[in-house]
Amino acid sequence: MIQIKHVNKSFGSVQVLKNIDLEVQKSHVFALIGPSGAGKSTLIRSINALESIQTGEIIVDGISVHDKKTNINQLRSDIGFVFQSFNLYPHLTAVENVAIAPVQVKKVPKDQAEEKAKKLLTSLGLGEKFGSYPSQLSGGQQQRVAIARALAMDPKVMLFDEPTSALDPEMIKEVLDAMRSLAATGMTMVVVTHEMGFAREICNQIVFMADGAIVEVAPPEQFFTHPKTERAKDFLSKVL
Ligand code: ADP
Ligand code: MG
Repeated sequence: MIQIKHVNKSFGSVQVLKNIDLEVQKSHVFALIGPSGAGKSTLIRSINALESIQTGEIIVDGISVHDKKTNINQLRSDIGFVFQSFNLYPHLTAVENVAIAPVQVKKVPKDQAEEKAKKLLTSLGLGEKFGSYPSQLSGGQQQRVAIARALAMDPKVMLFDEPTSALDPEMIKEVLDAMRSLAATGMTMVVVTHEMGFAREICNQIVFMADGAIVEVAPPEQFFTHPKTERAKDFLSKVL
């Protein structure tokens, strides 16, 4: 579903992605972990062209992401992205936040888009919050609205960049549970996370990055019990 081939990227003279190669199979969930500054956000953002790349290629479901001929709106409909900071529209209700992109980008009739928004919100445990504005919702609720908003576009892939890092501890579980349910539907997901329990339980593969490079890719049991590199051992000794 996602092919990343020989990707390099620099900000000025600093190379932040170094010859990245990775393939994510359909319906698999990959955790992207590693120390701060490793390049995790830059990599995941380059998958839906929020960041440009200098060399290499990223292909999502057959579409070359950074090809100038690629329709960026179409691409972003196919790739849902959930940010650490929920980025909801403050002046729109939960339902309106979820329905707006299908209406504006896909030209779905408003009543139809809102009907679907309500279904998605209900499935994420927000059946009581259709008319609430972001300021009236907790962080965990806002993040679930953000997940519903991404799903409203019927994406083929969902990307998450530290979706629980801005949340109070008691709200982390509700968001991880929503992601767990989504994974169970067969959604292809790449998740940058510091939640090692989630990575270990839910993910098919752990991708460990450091200093702009992929250092290890391994199934969770193997990675967490027998990391191959000193870099990974050192990281795990700090986070576990
Ligand atoms: P991570 O998400 O793993 O913490 P990032 O992808 O955010 O890492 O950052 C990787 C490196 O790229 C860091 O050294 C960071 O300072 C640098 N970087 C990220 N975004 C920019 C930018 N817009 N301009 C310059 N440097 C950046
Ligand atoms: Mg980051």
